[in-house]
Amino acid sequence: MSVSRIPRFYKLSVEERHVELRGRLDLDDDDLRILESGWHGSLSIDAANNMVENVISTHALPLGLGLNFRVNDRDYIVPMCVEEPSVIAAASNAAKSVRDGGGFTADADPPIMIAQVQIVGVPDTNVACVEILARRAELMAACDAAIPSLVRRGGGARGIEVRTLVASSEHEPGMLVVHLLVDCQDAMGANMVNTVAESVARRLAELAGGEPGLRILSNLADRRLVRVRCLVPLHALETKNFSGERVRDGVVAASRFAELDPYRAATHNKGIMNGVDAVVLATGNDWRGVEAGAHAYAARDGRYRPLAIWRVGPGGMLQGDLEMPMVVGTVGGTTRAHPGARLVMKLLGHPGAAELGMLIASVGLASNLSALRALACEGIQRGHMSLHARSVAMNAGASGALVEQVARELSELGDVRLERAVAIMARYTATSDALADAGE
Ligand code: NDP
Repeated sequence: MSVSRIPRFYKLSVEERHVELRGRLDLDDDDLRILESGWHGSLSIDAANNMVENVISTHALPLGLGLNFRVNDRDYIVPMCVEEPSVIAAASNAAKSVRDGGGFTADADPPIMIAQVQIVGVPDTNVACVEILARRAELMAACDAAIPSLVRRGGGARGIEVRTLVASSEHEPGMLVVHLLVDCQDAMGANMVNTVAESVARRLAELAGGEPGLRILSNLADRRLVRVRCLVPLHALETKNFSGERVRDGVVAASRFAELDPYRAATHNKGIMNGVDAVVLATGNDWRGVEAGAHAYAARDGRYRPLAIWRVGPGGMLQGDLEMPMVVGTVGGTTRAHPGARLVMKLLGHPGAAELGMLIASVGLASNLSALRALACEGIQRGHMSLHARSVAMNAGASGALVEQVARELSELGDVRLERAVAIMARYTATSDALADAGE
């Protein structure tokens, strides 16, 4: 069923959007209350006070819907939490073009996280590596013993690797790091693998003849990658002023630019993270962890590279490919503690962690496509500025219908600056004062 295509959704009022959603998804009165009260309103001060420290209030951001998404032949309406104008519209627009080519196809690695145990003061690193690896079975059993309920769910220890960071010599004792690979199932897994690392650190140090150092997960989760591909037909790329071939070739050239230049790659990846972070945040996941993983992976061979690249694909279509670590959960952390995040999971159809990761990466690839397409054609400023104009209008004190009016004037003038918005507002205020004085 075409669930994620809701034509003219953007034209509806917020209340009408709620009605539309209620009709399409299985939303009850409580869900509607959460939407009506503002997503943050679903988080009581009391709950917030139990989540973090020194609480004085809660903080709100807009929650919108990314539309037109189809991933692995399934439709998704995608909640996106973001303060930047145009991110949601642009991702929805790109997803519509991708949909014309059959949608996104994605796959995910098993949910394996890496726990690192540092061992310092190792007298002979070669001997220590052999000693540790010889006891692989004993150590894996000890890891599993620390997380029995995860093992019962089908997760648990999957491997042990040893890396020498400083080889022992007469001048300096050695330093090792042991990687414990743990399948975390539907959890993000940070707390789980930290528990595993704590549980075997002393034994590992004993085997190495050294002392245990840090015991913590690595956010460079390169065993938990997602890959997404899309094919965009030329007719879906065509604009009023540019042919499909011209847009495709512009996007490919923009991709090559990012592949060759880390300065460009950073901005290219920021565009991807616009979509990624918005869904990570909406689902109550740890966006700092996802960000850290993404950028570390982008620089994994010593040079910072784009997470997604674009080429001419089969039949001359535009082909996009994205690969990145995706450390998100659908259980644990804040994903179930925050009522708004619970509702978001419901809107998404209660995905597992792997499915959620593939969807998030698809939104990232859509965001990348929309930015490159705009940059390769008329430039990003035009579309961006008309949306930015609304924020500027609000900053100048506009509210209600005036926001749209002031924003339109700013866009028409091609001068989207606060100073100009304040001048326009002053004119409106003077006119309404004059009308009030005249008793109208
Ligand atoms: P939790 O500590 O909440 O652990 C996951 C929980 O989910 C467990 O209680 C587990 O139950 C339960 N669970 C229920 N169903 C499943 C299932 N199908 N698969 C897996 N677990 C299930 O969260 P995480 O370990 O995921 O850690 C995430 C948190 O850690 C985030 O809040 C993150 O911000 C934080 N963090 C991040 C760090 C980083 O990124 N560097 C560092 C430290 C913390 P049971 O116990 O019965 O197995």
